Amino acid sequence: MADLILENVFKRYDNNKKSKVLNDYAVNNLSLHCNEGEFIGILGPSGCGKTTTLRMIAGLEDITGGDISIGDIRLNNLEPKDRHIGLAFEDYALYPPLNVYDNIAFNLRAKKVSEEIIDEKIKKIAPLLKVDDLLKEKPISLSGGQKQRVNIARAIVREPKLLLLDEPLSHLDGKMRQVLRDEIKRLHREIKCTTIIVTHDQLEAMSLSDRMAIMKDGVLQQFGTPLEIYDDPANEFVAGFIGEPPMNLLTVTIVKEGEGFLFQFAEKNMKISVPERYNKVLKDGMKVRLGVRPTDVLIGTKKSPGSDVEVSVFESLGEERRLHFRVGEEFLTLITTEKIFYRPGDRVKLEFLSEKTHLFDMESGDKIRTE
Ligand code: ATP
Repeated sequence: MADLILENVFKRYDNNKKSKVLNDYAVNNLSLHCNEGEFIGILGPSGCGKTTTLRMIAGLEDITGGDISIGDIRLNNLEPKDRHIGLAFEDYALYPPLNVYDNIAFNLRAKKVSEEIIDEKIKKIAPLLKVDDLLKEKPISLSGGQKQRVNIARAIVREPKLLLLDEPLSHLDGKMRQVLRDEIKRLHREIKCTTIIVTHDQLEAMSLSDRMAIMKDGVLQQFGTPLEIYDDPANEFVAGFIGEPPMNLLTVTIVKEGEGFLFQFAEKNMKISVPERYNKVLKDGMKVRLGVRPTDVLIGTKKSPGSDVEVSVFESLGEERRLHFRVGEEFLTLITTEKIFYRPGDRVKLEFLSEKTHLFDMESGDKIRTE
């Protein structure tokens, strides 16, 4: 086993009618270094290049440019079967005439592994994935969750160097998804195989991944631990993409006041003081995008600086309360567990948890850093 390294990987589909002239790479200059044994999540909106990336690693898709290697072994020209990669893709494609045992054994038999060793491996893997009672069943009699478990068992029974999972839980309902997610986590601890998961579900990615790669339009936006990405998004796209409900993102004008600055919102009389740490990177009159998570917006007191703002919507959702404020064309949401009650039209002062605010450049969307 060794690290998986993607270096400046490009993919262009020449037949892609949807591609735009300026950005016609499905994957555009992707570099990722995944450490041995790491669990990596690839996340991004539909069409951002997640599946293409997995398929290139697996050898199911040619690479237009760049290199993919595991340790010192360059994979670019290796046949898929020689890459020692286990695949469990969304479409589990079990062989209908074969029972679960024979489905799991299929790839090992193709490699002429002896029946004795196959049996040994299946007896070890089947209980880990809780399919040991299903070995004699045909796929048609299995539930979606059971099929996905067999699919994963089939991928890992070959003891791959690398396990690639593309939406492996997509056909499951909420509760079953949670159960299988926990099982994948446990399985990864036991087999310690470098694993890459592609998913639409950010909670799934955050709970499973040691590190996550966030992609947009084929381009890597950020690669880091789930907390690094949540707490310190590299740009406005990542800030808005990770987090549920999403981060508030609003255009504000910086207005000088005394020694410091205020954020002036589209709603002209709404002003909130700018945390001091930004003083050296801001100028009077400058426009920026301000990002703050709903849980980092607080109801202030009469003494809070700035002016008050009108509550548009108040929601009481069990443990939490949500307040929505209209700010020009945009909305600002506040989430609190305090047992408060407001009516639309009430006015309150707002404060932001200063260390949790993020500023992004209006043009590039990149985070404006203070050091
Ligand atoms: P989703 O979340 O919807 O599965 P994705 O992030 O996995 O999306 P990809 O399937 O990798 O995205 O697709 C990336 C881009 O490449 C898209 O613009 C898609 O239309 C294009 N693409 C993917 N496969 C092909 C193909 N076989 N031929 C042409 N274009 C393709």
